[in-house]
Amino acid sequence: MWRCLVCGYVHDGENAPKNCPKCGSPQDKFEKIAKEDEDKILRSRFSNDLHMQLSAQLDVVLDIAEAGIEDDLDPGCVVVFKKAKEEALIIKQMIKAEIGTHISKGKWS
Ligand SMILES: [Zn+2]
Repeated sequence: MWRCLVCGYVHDGENAPKNCPKCGSPQDKFEKIAKEDEDKILRSRFSNDLHMQLSAQLDVVLDIAEAGIEDDLDPGCVVVFKKAKEEALIIKQMIKAEIGTHISKGKWS
């Protein structure tokens, strides 16, 4: 892996790209990423991907909860769907906060 020293873009490959796809800097602006840092990047990619998958599933929960609230069969049903909506929104915000800390610690590449 190679990192663009200008913009931080990470390239996967044997060699650095001719130009940075993000900022256009030439190949000599890329530095080789150390093996242990590569492992950290792969590890955090996996974790961030899980967060994104979970967030996508919560969007499904939100759609179902909305439909249930709208259906409004009886008060007991609405309580369940409102609770599901509330919790899904909280977890989604927690995911955003968590990914935010990964980015600030440079764990997002
Ligand atoms: Zn760049």
